[in-house]
Amino acid sequence: MRSWPAPEVPSLSAAGLPAPALQLHLHDTGTGTVRPTAPGDTARMYVCGITPYDATHLGHANTYLAFDLVNRVWRDLGHTVHYVQNATDVDDPLLERARQTGEDWRELAEREIALFREDMTELRVLPPDQYIGAVEAIPMIVEMIEKLRAKDATYTVDGDLYFPVAADPGFGEVSRLSREAMMPLFAERGGDPGREGKEDALDALLWLAQRPGEPGWESPFGTGRPGWHVECSAISIEYLGMAFDVEGGGSDLAFPHHEMGASHAQVATGERPHARAYVHAGMVGLDGEKMSKSKGNLVFVSALRRSGTDPMAIRLALLAHHYRSDWEWTAEQLDAAAARLGRWRAAVLRPAGPPAGPVADAVRRHLADDLDAPAALVEIDRWAERAAAGEGTDEAAPARIRAIADALLGVTLH
Ligand code: ZN
Repeated sequence: MRSWPAPEVPSLSAAGLPAPALQLHLHDTGTGTVRPTAPGDTARMYVCGITPYDATHLGHANTYLAFDLVNRVWRDLGHTVHYVQNATDVDDPLLERARQTGEDWRELAEREIALFREDMTELRVLPPDQYIGAVEAIPMIVEMIEKLRAKDATYTVDGDLYFPVAADPGFGEVSRLSREAMMPLFAERGGDPGREGKEDALDALLWLAQRPGEPGWESPFGTGRPGWHVECSAISIEYLGMAFDVEGGGSDLAFPHHEMGASHAQVATGERPHARAYVHAGMVGLDGEKMSKSKGNLVFVSALRRSGTDPMAIRLALLAHHYRSDWEWTAEQLDAAAARLGRWRAAVLRPAGPPAGPVADAVRRHLADDLDAPAALVEIDRWAERAAAGEGTDEAAPARIRAIADALLGVTLH
């Protein structure tokens, strides 16, 4: 599938701000600790994409911005980044929405993916190198399920194919949840713990036999469509291989989605781990509830854009929260972000200011420490305040601050 256009990322080294010897540290759900990412020359990242039945809301944007920072920090530290994202362009919620509105499910998916691309472009999120839809990935998903079958790690229930979680001795290592904690989450997040005929209530669907009025693709195990976990598992292995550096998504993906995907991958390949770190962004709420489609309490990026909101202000409003925290969106936060953007823009228009080197050092240090964007923003605030007060005579500083905000935070100041 087509990705979206890449924004230009200025090189801070070229701007006279060479990268220090730092390592990006991130919180890994699999160990519950903040650990250094230690990528090779090429850092490999997979982030779970949208199910395109509705527009991008601020919860999505918050997640993709977090991993955009990972991408930017790695690049600044001299790595090439290989970034892969999927789009679940066939799945239950999409088909259900299409049924409700009488629209063709393919048209619905195509329209919402187009809108998502626009939102990501406007927010200056660096695009994935491969943006892969579930439908186009079906051959690689089938191949992966074949590997699981060859290892005797599948069974059928009324023609639907399941993965027995007992096949993976490492099952549970991603989310580190007890079975008691897994069970309600599994039911809540698309699982079917109560289905009769399953060997274990937690076993995950690999392939759903075609239902009347639904699409299906031929496979050696019957005509049907893939489950969601095996989709991401197959796409990530196809493009990144095993033991890639970061698998990312919202915190609601830790279980069952990333747990199951890791188990599928580990059993199919006989290697481990699937990813070296599982990194999860917090949830954005509105009026006391998590922002989600099922609750209908969504603030859409496209709606804000249409109402004339500067996408850079949206970006700053999101980055003002630590990516791992759960927080509530309010209109006041957007006003505050717009005011901050205005102060930064005015400050970089000045002919001179305090030197930018210490700001670059501090911003890089905060971001390398589990993406502390809120602290990074404060560093630029301080520089802008001092510049606005007429402090400093460094004529290179305004352009350098502009480059820091652009390269590391994705915020353009012109
Ligand atoms: Zn996924």
